[in-house]
Amino acid sequence: MGIIEGRYGPNVIITSVDKLFNWSRSRSLWPITFGLACCAIEMMATSASRFDLDRFGIFFRPTPRQSDCMLVSGTVTIKMAERIRRLYEQMAEPRYVISMGSCANSGGPYWEYGYHVLKGVDLIFPVDVYIPGCPPRPEALIDGFLKLREKIEAETIVRKA
Ligand code: SF4
Repeated sequence: MGIIEGRYGPNVIITSVDKLFNWSRSRSLWPITFGLACCAIEMMATSASRFDLDRFGIFFRPTPRQSDCMLVSGTVTIKMAERIRRLYEQMAEPRYVISMGSCANSGGPYWEYGYHVLKGVDLIFPVDVYIPGCPPRPEALIDGFLKLREKIEAETIVRKA
């Protein structure tokens, strides 16, 4: 104990289990690693040294078994939709989805004539945060993660008897 012995009076921290769990979950989001098109380049830039997602406790994981967040970055073709849905189903609950960019949000530039593009990833699973842009800048992606944090902090995970 040394130098801190006797320096502070006895302290008690009071909180709820909800707050404690939500705080720890919101500060350690682990998105599954995959990218679909140009938005994925912005996603990679956001996790690199200049923007540094690690400082928010956000680490990309290579498997859905270790991930609690899916970041859909890019154009979702009809062919890929089934694969993405399978990855989503393999993630443990609670799980969250961020839709990054116009393509994932609504089909983007392929909205009208892209017969091969899904018109919004929310057609295959629920989305928690939408980030507009084509592509969104890294700052926008960071803001999306912070919005997701706020959403997790407001959740109630302990069921009342
Ligand atoms: S929203 Fe724009 S930048 Fe992102 S994948 Fe679609 S076309 Fe590319």
